[in-house]
Amino acid sequence: MSVIDEVLAANEIYSRTHELRKLTPRPERRLAVLTCMDTRLSIRTLGLRTGDAHVIRNAGGIVTEDALRSLVVSHYLLGTEEIMVINHTDCGLMHTTEQDLRTRIQNRTGKAAAAPASFYTFQNVEENVRRQLQKLRAHPWIPESVAVRGFVYDVTSGRLREIKDA
Ligand SMILES: [Zn+2]
Repeated sequence: MSVIDEVLAANEIYSRTHELRKLTPRPERRLAVLTCMDTRLSIRTLGLRTGDAHVIRNAGGIVTEDALRSLVVSHYLLGTEEIMVINHTDCGLMHTTEQDLRTRIQNRTGKAAAAPASFYTFQNVEENVRRQLQKLRAHPWIPESVAVRGFVYDVTSGRLREIKDA
């Protein structure tokens, strides 16, 4: 049995009660979180429940074109008023470089590829958070009325630390 088959079996059981049925598509607490796909981060870490917030995830917790698209939809269509950007210690993207990663994958596949254009690797997690905040604040469609704050999540202590602007 593959993991996907296990998930399908679990979903069959879930659907008998479907306790999240009453949720609306609008985040109850009007919060959008942009964070890494890392397994160690979850809504539990943030004291959130399903339905409270939009959680937008990608490798690194990077303000990419697509993350921006989601955040704009989140605010204008679904009413979120605060944005949290969370990067974390021990991120996979800190342990490599663009060139390293590209070479490693090319060696494994024997093929070159144009996309993704960037993996958004980084060395300094605080600096990386600041860069994401700058990208958001500079965007004409993220209004000043929307609170935008950045954090580093320490995977060892389980604590969030706020990163103030440079
Ligand atoms: Zn990560």
